[in-house]
Amino acid sequence: MWLRQWRRLAAFAGTIIVLAVLLAVQRHRHGAAVAPSLAVPSPRVDLTTLAINDFHGNLRPPTGGISIADPNDARRRIAIPAGGAEYMATLVKQLRARKKNSVFVAAGDLIGASPLLSALFHDEPTIVSLSAMGLEIAAVGNHEFDAGKDELLRMQNGGCHPTTACKGPRPFTGAKFRYLAASIFDKRTGEPFLPPYEIKEFEGIPVAFIGLALKNTPNIVAPSGVVGLEFRDEAETVNALVPLLKQHGIEAIVVLIHEGGFPAGDYNECPGIAGTIVDIVGKLDKAVDLVVSGHTHRAYRCVIDGRLITSADKFGTIVTEIELEIDRKTRDAVAEPAQAPHPPGLEGLLLHVGRQAAARGFCGGRRHHARRTPA
Ligand SMILES: [Zn+2]
Repeated sequence: MWLRQWRRLAAFAGTIIVLAVLLAVQRHRHGAAVAPSLAVPSPRVDLTTLAINDFHGNLRPPTGGISIADPNDARRRIAIPAGGAEYMATLVKQLRARKKNSVFVAAGDLIGASPLLSALFHDEPTIVSLSAMGLEIAAVGNHEFDAGKDELLRMQNGGCHPTTACKGPRPFTGAKFRYLAASIFDKRTGEPFLPPYEIKEFEGIPVAFIGLALKNTPNIVAPSGVVGLEFRDEAETVNALVPLLKQHGIEAIVVLIHEGGFPAGDYNECPGIAGTIVDIVGKLDKAVDLVVSGHTHRAYRCVIDGRLITSADKFGTIVTEIELEIDRKTRDAVAEPAQAPHPPGLEGLLLHVGRQAAARGFCGGRRHHARRTPA
C-alpha cells in the first residue's frame, strides 16, 4: 500500500523558500574529481541526504547559538550564532543547489517544547516553515505527542485547533512533509498509526525511508495523548519490514529514528558513543544502510557495524549532509568503509559525512568554514 506512494524528486522541486541569508558555508573541495563521461552513465547514483532533528519550534536562532572550536586556536571553543528557521533554510538551500538527487529528512521532535513564538500558535508556524524549506520526511518524536495524538494528526493533515480555532493568517493546511511512525500501532485495529515508510526514487532507483518513534514515549508524555497506541520495539519493527521492501526490489534502506546516543567527541566524530541507539543499531538487519538519529540533542557521525549513524544537535544549528552512493545494478547503497576517514578541519556548523567522499579520498580535503554574513 505504501509502495504506491512513490514520489519523484520533481514533485517537490521549487518548493524551497529562501527566508534570509544570515549564514554562508563556503565549500572547498581539494583534489581532482573525475568527471563522469557523457557517453557512459555512472554505474552509481549519488544521493545527498540532508538531515535534522529536535528542531523544537526554534523559528528564531536559539540563545547561545552553537559552540565550535575556535578557528584561530583549536584549544578554545567559541559560541557563534546558529540555528533557527532562517539560518537552516539558507544552509539547506545552499547544500541542495547543485545536487542532482537530494532528500531532506528529520528524526523527530520538530515541534513541542517550543519557544512562545511557535507554541502560541500550536506550532503551526513551525510546520509551515519546515514545509516551506522543503522538508520531505520526518520520524515522529516523543514531543510530537505533547498535545496528544489527535493534535499530531492535525499537524499532518491541517485544520483548525479544536478549542482555539484558527489563529494564523490563513487556514492551517498541515505539513507538506510526511510524518512516519513504523513502530506505533493502533491497539484496536492493529494498523500503523501513521505510514511506516516512504519510498522515493532517484534516477529510477528506489530508496526506502523508515520512520521510528521513541519506544519509551508512553512513559514520558501525558498518558491521554497516546491512549490506544502501542509503541513496539524499534529493531524488530525494521527487521520485519526489510523482507517486504526487498520483495519489491528495494535494497537501499534509510532509518529515521527518534532515539540517540552520547559520544564524547566533537560534531563530526564518535568516540565512545553510548546509549540506546548503539543497542538498536546492533540488532538492525544488515540491509539498513544509514541511520539518522536524534533525541539526545547531540551531534555525531559514527560508523557502527559498518553503517553510518548520524545526529545533528538541535534547534536547527546543524544540518547533516550525507552522501550515499547507490549501485545501479544491485540497487543497494555502497558499503561504508570500516574505517571511514575523519574529515579534519571541520568547524562544526555543518556535519558532513560522505560515503562517496570517503571512497574517493576526498573526505580529508572537504572543509567547511562557517562565516557570518550581514543579513
Ligand atoms: Zn528533543
